[in-house]
Amino acid sequence: MAKKSKSLLKHGFKAEAERISERLRKELKISKFAPLCAFALAEHLGVTIAGITEVLPKEGVNKLNDPSKKEKFSGLLFKNEDGDPVVLHNDLDSKKRQQSNLMHELAHFLCGHEVPEEIRNLIYLYNLRYFNAEHEAEAKYLGGCLQIPKPGLLWKRKEQCSEEEISEYFSASVDMVNYRINTLGLNRRFKRN
Ligand SMILES: [Zn+2]
Repeated sequence: MAKKSKSLLKHGFKAEAERISERLRKELKISKFAPLCAFALAEHLGVTIAGITEVLPKEGVNKLNDPSKKEKFSGLLFKNEDGDPVVLHNDLDSKKRQQSNLMHELAHFLCGHEVPEEIRNLIYLYNLRYFNAEHEAEAKYLGGCLQIPKPGLLWKRKEQCSEEEISEYFSASVDMVNYRINTLGLNRRFKRN
């Protein structure tokens, strides 16, 4: 899916995503180079975070966190009865994973992605999953920018930090670090040095 997502992004989206990441850090008085905690960002945006172990019975948790399943539950953005945004997430995932899951869902929120009402009803009726490839590509890209901002990544690469060190610094998985390095084409740029 990562290969496909590139072409699904609207022209200018990548630059816009970096700007959003920088603007939010500014609002939270965090340097544009620094890590941003997804829980703090959610609070800032007025999005409630709920972990599956906090709100679901054990049976539901086991179902969503079943490691034998191909797609384990990571997170979901929805509106509660009052119309307020809530992210339900898998709080049994690793801390780093939780950060990227939450950033992904917050990216959906920031992009204003919504499931159309009539489709939402069908989803509940037939227990379906809504999937919008364009929305997913945007949330993936913006989520990555929120977690690892370009200026911060450039700085860490200049300092010759390893992927593991960058992963620790931004509380992101090594996979996410590599995803950001690859999408920004930094490998090519830095290999010449
Ligand atoms: Zn998504």
